[in-house]
Amino acid sequence: MTINWFDESFKIPLGFGITITIIILLLAIIVPIIVTALTSAKIVWGCPECGKRFKLKWYKRFWIHYSDNAVVPATCPFCHKKVVCTQSFNQHSECDRL
Ligand SMILES: [Zn+2]
Repeated sequence: MTINWFDESFKIPLGFGITITIIILLLAIIVPIIVTALTSAKIVWGCPECGKRFKLKWYKRFWIHYSDNAVVPATCPFCHKKVVCTQSFNQHSECDRL
């Protein structure tokens, strides 16, 4: 396998090249998921139907990773309706308990 880097070219073993490519692809997928999980775990969401405040599990946020960070479609854990949640204005007080 030959790598062309501007006007230089390197020869590396094919298996090494495939391994590096796979590692870069995995990092490109995993790192945004981890960053989203860590940042969104702290966000308090509000249900427009019942007005309860809750946090979403990181794996629920994972599927809506690419949507707008301020508005998120989810199922409310209190009224179990599919709603479009908005970030709560008060991020510092306790969530409502189930
Ligand atoms: Zn609700």
